[in-house]
Formats: sequence, structure tokens, C-alpha cells
Amino acid sequence: MRDDLRDTWQLLGISEAVFAAKALQVYEEAGELVDVETGDDGRVWQLVPAAANAWLRMQAAAARKGITLRIASAYRSSARQTELIQRKLAAGEPIDNILQVLAPPGCSEHHTGRAVDIYQPGGPVAEAAFEETGAFAWLATHAGEHGFTLSFPRGNAQGYVYEPWHWCYRGTGDV
Ligand SMILES: [Zn+2]
Repeated sequence: MRDDLRDTWQLLGISEAVFAAKALQVYEEAGELVDVETGDDGRVWQLVPAAANAWLRMQAAAARKGITLRIASAYRSSARQTELIQRKLAAGEPIDNILQVLAPPGCSEHHTGRAVDIYQPGGPVAEAAFEETGAFAWLATHAGEHGFTLSFPRGNAQGYVYEPWHWCYRGTGDV
């Protein structure tokens, strides 16, 4: 465990035992990032170049079938992850509950710039009901062709809730 992460975890009340118990791993933060999409609120979402290219190809392929894929979240720094957890703690949520929906700082796939949270306009955002959308049905069949896989199915080892919206680029062919 890196010293900076150990300090942050302590600050947030996250036990180091969680690391092994939840089969977590520490991810390096993305290096080069490119802009891929601007959200309705003006936020610019970024991914590493390989994931950005794959995302744009996948989005275009879905669009040809009448499916609109949009990004609800992409690259996120561990500092930002800390802020998100602090906000929930401040709202009175217990850390154990928070860790079912947010990774401890350092352990989110979003740090790598390869993970995207996907939604369909007008549909649920970061909710299990995303599973019922046409976007999910399309992804379940075709995301793999573009190198994206579902990271957190039901019963995942990391102890997160089922996240049908969270897909990570792991490359094509070699993984
Ligand atoms: Zn996610």
C-alpha cells in the first residue's frame, strides 16, 4: 500500500483489511488523457487515447443501430474519489455502505482512464435499471468486440453493487 493512500484511507476511516477482503487492487493514475465527450452539465470526460478511440468506435457502431450511448463518468483522479467519499460521509453514510458504490481512493478503475459509466439519454443513470435499456442489451452483445467488458456483475468479488453501467476497456484480441 502506498503511503499517500494509507494516509488517505486512514482519514476516511477505511480499514486496510478491506483491501484484501474485497479483492481490490491499486491502479496507476492515467498519464495522457484526451477529451472524448462533454456532458449536458458542461463537464468534459476524458479517457486514455486507446480507450478513447475504442469508445468513439463503439459509440458510432451503436449509433448505426439506433442506440445512443453517453458517458456519465470517465477518468477520475484518486483525489476526486476522496472528495466523493467525503461528501457521502458528511451526509452521514457509513463507510461500509459507501464502499459498496465507490472504490477506496487508488482502487477505482476510473483512475486508469479506461473505465466509463454509460447511460442512454432519458434512461437511468448509475442504477441497476440500466440493465433494462436497449443500450445495455446492445453492450451485452457488442461491447466485447470493441474491447470493453462489464467489470462488476452480480456477486462480484470486490463487494460492489451490480453495476451494469460500468464498462472498462481492456483491449481487443489480447485479453
Ligand atoms: Zn464506474
